[in-house]
Amino acid sequence: MKSASTSLSVGRRAVPHEGLTAIRVGGFQPFTTLDYPGHMAAVIFLQGCPLRCVYCHNRDLLPVRADTEIDGREIEARLEQRRGLLQAVVFSGGEPLVQSGLGAAMDHVRSLGFKVGLHTSGISPERFGRLRGRVDWVGFDIKAPFGMYEGVTGVGQAGAQAQKSLAMLASWGIPYEVRVTIWPDLLDASAVREIAAKAERIGCQDFALQECRDPANGQAMGGEVFQDNRLLAELAQAFPGFTVRRANHARAA
Ligand code: SF4
Repeated sequence: MKSASTSLSVGRRAVPHEGLTAIRVGGFQPFTTLDYPGHMAAVIFLQGCPLRCVYCHNRDLLPVRADTEIDGREIEARLEQRRGLLQAVVFSGGEPLVQSGLGAAMDHVRSLGFKVGLHTSGISPERFGRLRGRVDWVGFDIKAPFGMYEGVTGVGQAGAQAQKSLAMLASWGIPYEVRVTIWPDLLDASAVREIAAKAERIGCQDFALQECRDPANGQAMGGEVFQDNRLLAELAQAFPGFTVRRANHARAA
């Protein structure tokens, strides 16, 4: 088993390798077929998120630190056991970009033979840019039209940050999915069309609408966009991989 004491050779020099001990892990899902399309994957949920999405169901992952964190060495051991069984490991959250050890953790996962997936809302273009060449697939959450982020996330400037990260992602040449979780009080058909038009313009192939649950009572929220057959047909026409995820299957970064 690799651990915090593992070393990697760089030229003739051995350098310390922190593996997954460099990240704060808030949760671990050992097997899923939903979080990396077409792949059997495990999901590592990273602790911490600066956004406060109105529909967030991962509130225990929002603080930067938590006393429920899982030791990275335990995750490494569990991944070691799954080599040859799983195809990929997805880094999710919380918001993975808040952790500076994310890139090194991805490198470690790749060294174990897994593909690397990422769920992100792209709130730090600087950190996102450092992941180029380290990630194989991205599920990119767009929370609202970029000028409307404050209403959904509580952080207005996050929209401009997300826009920069998305433009970067489109230039990387890797598969990705743009997903929009519908908070029906704020996102109507015109808001979805605005987001979809931007995604289409950058060449996005895979686009998903996700239904959220009301955090107050756990009920699926629905919303007019899920009943709008004209909108759904437009999206299916625009994106070869168009998906509608009702609440039972929704994942939100
Ligand atoms: S980005 Fe994800 S984890 Fe962060 S507040 Fe929004 S839904 Fe919750």
